[in-house]
Amino acid sequence: MLSLGIDIGATKAHGVALDEHNQIVAEHGQFTIRGPEGVRTVLMEVAEKVAERAGIGLRDFDAVGIGIPGVVNRETGVITSAVNLQIEQMPLRKLIAGEFSVPIHMDNDVKVTVVAAGMLLNSLSVTYINLGTGVAAATLAGRLIRGWDNAAGEIGHIVFETDGHPCRCGQRGCIETIIGGAYLAARMNLLELDWTKLDVDPTPAGRAAAAQATSVLARVATMVAMGYASDHIVLGGGVVLAAPWLLPAVKAQLHQFGEVATFPPYDSIAERLMTLEVDIKAPAIGAALIGQGWTEGYKLDPQGNCE
Ligand SMILES: [Zn+2]
Repeated sequence: MLSLGIDIGATKAHGVALDEHNQIVAEHGQFTIRGPEGVRTVLMEVAEKVAERAGIGLRDFDAVGIGIPGVVNRETGVITSAVNLQIEQMPLRKLIAGEFSVPIHMDNDVKVTVVAAGMLLNSLSVTYINLGTGVAAATLAGRLIRGWDNAAGEIGHIVFETDGHPCRCGQRGCIETIIGGAYLAARMNLLELDWTKLDVDPTPAGRAAAAQATSVLARVATMVAMGYASDHIVLGGGVVLAAPWLLPAVKAQLHQFGEVATFPPYDSIAERLMTLEVDIKAPAIGAALIGQGWTEGYKLDPQGNCE
């Protein structure tokens, strides 16, 4: 029993093969090529590489799942509005279905990651906050919360600073324009700062940038923590994984908020905040679980009933 899971991010793609105990037996990562043709090419290259490393052919996988940014129609396998992948609309499943012998399951990348987090933490009370190219969250609260138009957790374009930076959505000061990877990379470049070591930057610009990112992420964590009050609040995505200083800084900030406020329960939020050890592989693991049919969280069977 081998499941293939592939996560296509705006920057990198990662694939894993999981055995029957959901342990990784083979994996491969490479840079993404944007646009429909590029995404298809990268997807098949990753699939073939993982199959080769697992010592099997593509048609030997028992389950196949894909996690991808944007609006994913799980029934039709069509992706729309994957802005960071430069895809307006793409019938992804139809394009690759002939390569595999089993049905291909697909879902939004952040939603598949929270399914992986739930499996790894053995919990159905998890919120995952992804700071990748953009910013989004997903929640397991007994089951995966999808909401209207599968849009639950799409917090990236909530405005935090009404006079902030212009955003690609047409507004100013969205969460993405403060702690999203695309905006952060541009700002770090402009100010000649190193995001990965911002905590030890002695310049006023470096200290101000670290303080702002920390404070805003602490506010975002509080917002989603109060939304579902999950047992586990997981931070992930390239922005988080590149900056080991960020998690302790955000925890310290939350404790500091707690010194002057009796509510929200900042100390508890800080204690529930964490990153995953598997970090960059989590979305691909989640994609493989989705491929196995765990579309509403790992402890639910594919029909949505509790075990
Ligand atoms: Zn926006």
